[in-house]
Amino acid sequence: MVEEICPKCGLPKSLCVCEVIEREAERIKLFVEKRTFGKLVTIVDGISDEEKAEEILSRLKKKLGCGGTFKNNRIELQGDHRKRVREILLKDFGYKEEQVELS
Ligand SMILES: [Zn+2]
Repeated sequence: MVEEICPKCGLPKSLCVCEVIEREAERIKLFVEKRTFGKLVTIVDGISDEEKAEEILSRLKKKLGCGGTFKNNRIELQGDHRKRVREILLKDFGYKEEQVELS
């Protein structure tokens, strides 16, 4: 059986750590924006992989019980959920504390 080779590092996929490196290089910004009528929206910015972002979005919506969308490469959630979002990113998605910048 011929194993698939990673185009980036040239190693077989089973040995390749490109995806891990890419993920560890991600810097996620977590902040709140005020919209019309004083509504607060939590923004999660910096998830480079769209598929991943959609997965994270649906998990956050389910766990937080709020509405949300993914647009312009940012996750937007209704309400201020910064602390819980951070917790979920760390616990459920394996991000490291220093990757998630809360402001
Ligand atoms: Zn690779």
